[in-house]
Amino acid sequence: MSGSALYETFARAPLAFERGEGVWLVTESGERYLDFAGGIAVNSLGHSHPHLVAALAEQAARLWHVSNLYEIPGQRRLGERLVEASFADKVFFTNSGAEALECAIKTARRYHFVNGHPERFRTITFEGAFHGRTLATIAAGGQAKYLEGFGPKVEGFDQVAFDDIDAAEKLIGPETAAILIEPVQGEGGVRPVPGASLRRLRDLCDKHGLLLIFDEVQCGVGRTGKLFAYEWSGVAPDIMAIAKGIGGGFPMGACLATDAAASGMTAGVHGTTFGGNPLAMAVGNAVLDVVLAPGFLDEVSRKALLMKQGLAAVADEFPDVFEGIRGTGLLLGLKCRVPNTRVNMALRDEKLLAVPAGDNVVRLLPPLTISDEEIRDGLSRIRAAAGHLAELPAPAAS
Ligand code: PLP
Repeated sequence: MSGSALYETFARAPLAFERGEGVWLVTESGERYLDFAGGIAVNSLGHSHPHLVAALAEQAARLWHVSNLYEIPGQRRLGERLVEASFADKVFFTNSGAEALECAIKTARRYHFVNGHPERFRTITFEGAFHGRTLATIAAGGQAKYLEGFGPKVEGFDQVAFDDIDAAEKLIGPETAAILIEPVQGEGGVRPVPGASLRRLRDLCDKHGLLLIFDEVQCGVGRTGKLFAYEWSGVAPDIMAIAKGIGGGFPMGACLATDAAASGMTAGVHGTTFGGNPLAMAVGNAVLDVVLAPGFLDEVSRKALLMKQGLAAVADEFPDVFEGIRGTGLLLGLKCRVPNTRVNMALRDEKLLAVPAGDNVVRLLPPLTISDEEIRDGLSRIRAAAGHLAELPAPAAS
């Protein structure tokens, strides 16, 4: 055995945390890190949120798992609440984002199948997209580095440049079933898609009888200051995948769809052993209790503005380090002039955790429950890191 017993698939930081409290992560030796990585947009309500801890503990003491052979009251309730709060009529619960996307893609293909068009199975996606690591979702994401070595790419995905709606229109053919897009690209570098582009995609889908699928795995569940990012544009999809924030750290996801879009998903055509399990549902319902409480999302928007203004000031102060800022709500990105991995390390040296993204961006995804004081603390750490980076000689050109 070489190294550890684990697959070497992750380039892990040499850090292990023993506990978390709100926006803070604490190592075994008691070092405290300000967590602006948030488990990559997962810890929507921070660490050890008392309402989530209580909901999970209460459910764990009663019932863990029964399978989808039986009614699961918490699942029915969470489904109804998601439907009530969104465009959707139907929900399928999964364990992860990729599984929610798999369900979304299958839902679109089945829709055309039961409507007499089995030949319509292709999905148009956008460069820079990230939809997961299953065989279908790496094909959907279309990134060569994730496809290499895994055999023939799953058939049925066609890609156009980011925000190139004209190219998407040209690609629509007799086999096209759906268009899949993240309203705000996360991994791709925190790139919001303009509302006008989402509107054009909606119109194209309506005109050609296609289904519009939104991937809100990263940008959904309050992250942008609305429950779902699509609400900013006023453009509703037919199908949407969510995950990450809805579980607040408990692994879960969901595929939401209109009645019409879900019309092919009849008994027996899709399934899951763990998806929608009572533990996950207890936590998902508890997350919604908090996120849908009056005023919570307005507070996210207010705090996001505070953070964005602060980041803009830091970017202005260190133009050799940062090119600018981007993002919506508390899904923010620092576009770097020096390698983003270097910026990420410098932030870690200041005991602030962030996440590198594509396009040389550093992503900041703090818990939605962050306080003003913690935002100011984070900003001063980012300023300190930028100060150190600005003093360093630029790396030699290779
Ligand atoms: N879609 C988006 C937009 C994501 O950001 C991710 C994960 O980062 C996924 C899908 C895949 O989710 P998971 O890793 O839970 O399978």
